[in-house]
Amino acid sequence: MKQRIAVIGGGVIGLSTAYALIRAGHDVTLVERNEDVGLGASYANGGQLSYRYVSPLADAGVPRQALRWMLKSGSPVSLRLRADPNQWRWMFSFLSACTHKTNRQSTAALLSLALRGQDELAAWRAEGLDGFMWRQPGKLVLYRQDAAFRKAMFSIHDAKLERALSPADCAKIEPAFAHLAPDLAGGIFSPEDEVADSHLFCKALKASLLCEPRFRYVQGNSSLAPDTENRCELKVDGRRFTTDLIVLAAGLGARDMTIPLGIHLPLYGLKGYSLTLRPSPETMPSVSVTDYDNRVVYARLGDALRVAAMVDIGAEDATFNPTRLASLRTLVKRTLPHIADESGNDNPWTGLRPATPTGVPIIGRSRYTNLLFNVGHGALGFTLCTGSAARIADIIGPAETYGVQ
Ligand SMILES: Cc1cc2nc3c(=O)[nH]c(=O)nc-3n(C[C@H](O)[C@H](O)[C@H](O)COP(=O)(O)OP(=O)(O)OC[C@H]3O[C@@H](n4cnc5c(N)ncnc54)[C@H](O)[C@@H]3O)c2cc1C
Repeated sequence: MKQRIAVIGGGVIGLSTAYALIRAGHDVTLVERNEDVGLGASYANGGQLSYRYVSPLADAGVPRQALRWMLKSGSPVSLRLRADPNQWRWMFSFLSACTHKTNRQSTAALLSLALRGQDELAAWRAEGLDGFMWRQPGKLVLYRQDAAFRKAMFSIHDAKLERALSPADCAKIEPAFAHLAPDLAGGIFSPEDEVADSHLFCKALKASLLCEPRFRYVQGNSSLAPDTENRCELKVDGRRFTTDLIVLAAGLGARDMTIPLGIHLPLYGLKGYSLTLRPSPETMPSVSVTDYDNRVVYARLGDALRVAAMVDIGAEDATFNPTRLASLRTLVKRTLPHIADESGNDNPWTGLRPATPTGVPIIGRSRYTNLLFNVGHGALGFTLCTGSAARIADIIGPAETYGVQ
């Protein structure tokens, strides 16, 4: 049945949701509080559409590894404990999720969502969605430690789609990292993985949606409150907004928005950093690369190289920590010493990954009959946005049902 649906949030998740619901034939209004779309966590992320490498942070051994990282400056994860109940609640659930079993279950859930999303994006692109620097160069994960490389080899799901490589073969696949070969245990190459610019993707989705008469874009601040008969009420800038269904896709903002509803979404903002360099084309990597031990990702987006890294727990604001930024710059210089930025500006950016403790997003109906969630995509929101949007469209159903009455 055709529905009027309000989608709250203009990041990759909200825009993809709006796009999938328009494709399903519904009337959609997207509400975004910022002056434009894609200015939150979706702005300058790592650019990897990492469909096959989806293992979440929560895993057995991670708490011990994290303790080692805490004692080392410039490590991938930093922790600052605060008198913040959100942080303590999230960390307790995160630690409980650090088991082999939960990691296996979460990885399976994420993989199925990611693969669905890859098909979905292919369909959207085939219909003409473009302008976001999409490429399919494959992704290479480089391992320096034997144990981690062996574990990655054992978790290969499909040998056609993921290949274990020797250090020499890693150097052949991506010569820009060839000098690291003597320090490597090996690499895993996923030839079908993709890259794209997440901010341009948001803009492309908005531009395409605005051509659709069933779509409306509203700039305003949304809030939710309980209404009658297990429904909730949506207000935009304080004024009641009438709609059949609401899909909450407001990233980290969803946590505060659901408090008046008596719902505590287990979301926490994990701060990360990115740099956007403009080196000469000859020195640029082409393949998308993850330096596993340093947890740094590299993706070529047009004539720019996006580098993203760092998980800061306990810094839920988007300000730069100069020490962490300096550590990232040092890591990049050490890893790719021949890559000189020719623009003189590495465009530092910081964003908060809206993360659940297990790494699995919250997608589905809430206890309010008119409210659905599409939140908590953490470190993989760009990869998962199209699959998550398709799930929401499945749950709501198409505007018209044909055949069986
Ligand atoms: C450093 C870094 C690197 C990353 N690299 C990758 C990567 O390589 N691959 C990958 O797949 N993922 C990556 N991610 C993760 C990905 O960027 C996020 O998961 C994703 O952007 C989350 O999208 P979102 O739409 O949920 O949130 P957001 O992009 O933050 O969007 C939420 C929107 O909701 C709006 N909003 C909030 N509250 C309200 C309200 N009350 N009313 C109206 N609007 C509201 C906000 O203004 C915002 O625009 C990375 C993240 C970071 C920080």
